[in-house]
Amino acid sequence: MTNSLTAESPAPPRVLLAHHLRQLKLPTILREYEKVALEAAREGQDHIRYLLRLVELELIDRERRMVERRIRAARFPAVKSFDTFDFAAIPSLNKPLALELARCEYVVARENIIALGNSGTGKTHVCLALGLSACQRGLSVSFTTAAGLVHQLMEARDEKRLLRLQAQLAAVKLLIIDELGYVPLTQTGAELLFEVFSQRHERGSVIVTSNLPFDEWTSVFGNQRLTGALLDRLTHHVHILEMNGESYRLKQSKARRRKNPAPSVEPSADPETGKIVPG
Ligand code: ADP
Ligand code: MG
Repeated sequence: MTNSLTAESPAPPRVLLAHHLRQLKLPTILREYEKVALEAAREGQDHIRYLLRLVELELIDRERRMVERRIRAARFPAVKSFDTFDFAAIPSLNKPLALELARCEYVVARENIIALGNSGTGKTHVCLALGLSACQRGLSVSFTTAAGLVHQLMEARDEKRLLRLQAQLAAVKLLIIDELGYVPLTQTGAELLFEVFSQRHERGSVIVTSNLPFDEWTSVFGNQRLTGALLDRLTHHVHILEMNGESYRLKQSKARRRKNPAPSVEPSADPETGKIVPG
């Protein structure tokens, strides 16, 4: 505060105003009201316009804070959007469908998305972009990998808090399960994961990404009946994103090598495996 609180002014209006605005949780109005008041005076605006401007600023800021909170709650490994996605690099992906899905109507309709394709084709990028879109539209999102989710479920079961975790997983509007298929599941793991899908069926959306075509999903779940029942639920209302193609990472490193063919003496990391290879 710029004014000083003295004994002669027991309740300076600025101090009271700051207190009340904090109490009402209006931090933007508190931060901006003096500056906006000066602008309003300069432009000869009336009180109503002044108040309207302040309330608008608070609303805009509150929306931004809520989106940030939803992004944090989603636990994305990175924040990515379609703005940085090069559709030309993956011709098998139906671009109009992907952009339509970014409008999130499938979440409202409680439909699912499955992205299928080999490694490095942008499946994780696309589901991060879809997740971000959902956060921006006010929908709650949770991001996890299949292996991570199974681990979480097993841990919760051992600690007798499985029901609570299941309730949390069922409550979120969009659950993203990345990388189904990379690791085969134990029978318990498969059953716990099946239950998550079952509990969300027609109640909330799921996005699944997998490197395996459907006919190989049994190898992950280890049980044909369970896999059949799961696919039945998951594909009841589903949008499929075909994402087979050349690995984006591989293509980029090849392009780099073409541009800069001089052999490097420095060791570098293999873009696919992350292994250090000598130059
Ligand atoms: P996947 O999950 O299919 O294995 P990723 O989404 O992890 O592939 O993609 C690997 C890397 O390449 C990521 O950094 C990702 O952002 C990037 N990438 C993949 N495809 C594209 C694309 N079409 N445009 C821009 N970046 C891409
Ligand atoms: Mg991935």
